[in-house]
Amino acid sequence: MTDSTYKICPNCKKANINRDYCEHCGTIINVYLKRKLERRQQEDQKRRLAKESGKIRITTFFENAQQHPNFLIRLFAGLFYSIWVVVIAIGSFLAFLFGYVAA
Ligand SMILES: [Zn+2]
Repeated sequence: MTDSTYKICPNCKKANINRDYCEHCGTIINVYLKRKLERRQQEDQKRRLAKESGKIRITTFFENAQQHPNFLIRLFAGLFYSIWVVVIAIGSFLAFLFGYVAA
């Protein structure tokens, strides 16, 4: 048996032969697999964060402007915020409509 790989589990210190996961505690022993999994998780997290911050940035911008001491800026912020909400509503309505027509 020359192709069998013998690994010691880093978690429970027990020996495993030809396994990616520990037979005893389920820890990933295969370093390559572990790295691949960690990289995928990091990419998922990065993508999720970018998505959330992009959505929040516009909303927080308008919320901050509505707290502004200048009345005119508060008025404009309120006005543009309502327009922004309407644009999103129309956009989602159109998306729904196109989806409906296409189906
Ligand atoms: Zn183990």
